[in-house]
Amino acid sequence: MKIKVTIVAGDGIGPEVTREAVHILESVGQLNGYKFQFTEMPIGGVAIRQHGSPLPTTTLDAALDSDAVLLGAVGGNEFNSLPPDKRPEAGLLQLRHALGGFANLRPSVAYASLSNNSPLRPEVTDGADILFVRELLGGLYFGEPRSWDRETGVGLNTMRYTRDEVVRVARIAFELAQKRRKKVTSVDKANVLEVSQLWRATVIDVAAEYPDVALEHQYVDACAMHLMNTPRNFDVVVTENLFGDILSDEAAVITGSLGMLPSATIGGKVNLYEPVHGSAPDIAGTGKANPLGAILTAAMLLRHTANLEQDALAIETAVQRVLTRGYRTADLARTNQPGQQIVTTQEMGRLVFEVLNEIIDRRQAMHAV
Ligand code: NAD
Repeated sequence: MKIKVTIVAGDGIGPEVTREAVHILESVGQLNGYKFQFTEMPIGGVAIRQHGSPLPTTTLDAALDSDAVLLGAVGGNEFNSLPPDKRPEAGLLQLRHALGGFANLRPSVAYASLSNNSPLRPEVTDGADILFVRELLGGLYFGEPRSWDRETGVGLNTMRYTRDEVVRVARIAFELAQKRRKKVTSVDKANVLEVSQLWRATVIDVAAEYPDVALEHQYVDACAMHLMNTPRNFDVVVTENLFGDILSDEAAVITGSLGMLPSATIGGKVNLYEPVHGSAPDIAGTGKANPLGAILTAAMLLRHTANLEQDALAIETAVQRVLTRGYRTADLARTNQPGQQIVTTQEMGRLVFEVLNEIIDRRQAMHAV
C-alpha cells in the first residue's frame, strides 16, 4: 500500500512540528510494511516569497492529486500589513475550500499526566475524551445574505442549513460514535432558532439509522456550561459551524495546551489534517514548539484516510506514555511538577518515535506467537 501525502508545512513553527509528524508516519509505515509518498509544497508566507501567491496552483494541484494533505501552520508578522486576501492565511482558506471537507473533527483529550496544566480540577477533567464534529461549510459563517450597511448602521449574517447538509455531517458523527463510546450530543439553539429546529429534527431522523448510538440534545448555552462541569459525559458532539468553533476552543482547556490539539477535516475530495495551533512566530526556530499536536494529527491521518486504526492508536499511546514519563516541551512545563524533563521539539519527536517502536515491536511479537 502506498499513501500519497502532500505536505504543506508553511511558516513559523509549521516546518518544525511537521518534520516530527512526517518522521513518525515514515516509521510507522516502515515498521508495518506500507509506504508514504510525500510531496512537499509551499503554502502561506513561504509561498508568497517564492511564488507571489499564498496558494500557488502547483500546490493546489498536488493537494488535489493526493490521498491526504498534512499542513503545519501559516502566518507571519511580516505579512500583517497585507490585505486579507493576499495574506498567508488566505492560502489556507482557499485550500480548505478547494478540498471541500465539510466535517471538522477536533478531539479534546485530557491526558492524566497533564491534569495540572488545565485550569479545571483533575477530578473534573480526568478521563475526558471528546470528539467535536463541527459542520464547516455552512451555517452562520457562510449563509447569505450577509452585509454591513454603514449608512443604515445594520449588520447582517444568516444561519442557513439545508436538510442534506445536516444529514451528511450527522452521519459522520454517528459513524464515529459507533467506533467510540456510542453517544452523540447534538448541540443547537432549537428553543429560539428555526434553523436549529431543522437541525434537531434532521439529526433525530438520522439517529434512526444508528440504533446502537444514544442521542442527546443540548442547547448551545447549556452545553458551554456542561463542558466545563462534566466533560466526561461527552463522547461525540455534533454542531453548527459557529457553535462548534466556540465550543471546541472552550473544551480545548481540558488538554492543557494549544500545542496538544490535532484536527482533521473530512468528507470532501481530499482530507486535510492540521494541528489547531498557528505558526507561533514568537517561538519559531527556538526548539520550543510542541510537536505533539502535529504528531496526533498524523495519527488522525492514519485513522481517517488509511483506515489504520491500530497504528493511529499506537501513536496516541506513545504520546501518552512519553507524557506519563515526565517529558515536557516548554509550553507544558509547570513549576510545581517534580520529575518533569524539559525537552526540545526534536527530542520530543524522538521520544515518541522510540516508544512507538517499543509498542509496535511488542504488538508484532504477540502476533508472531
Ligand atoms: P498561535 O497558535 O500561533 O500562538 C498562540 C500562542 O500559543 C503563542 O504564544 C505560541 O507560542 C503558542 N503556541 C502555539 N502553538 C504552539 C506549539 N505547538 N507549541 C508551543 N507553543 C505554541 O496563534 P497566534 O499567535 O494568534 O497567531 C500567530 C500566526 O499564526 C498568525 O499569523 C495567525 O494568523 C496564524 N494562525 C494560523 C493558523 C493555521 O495555520 N491553522 C491558526 C491560527 C493562527
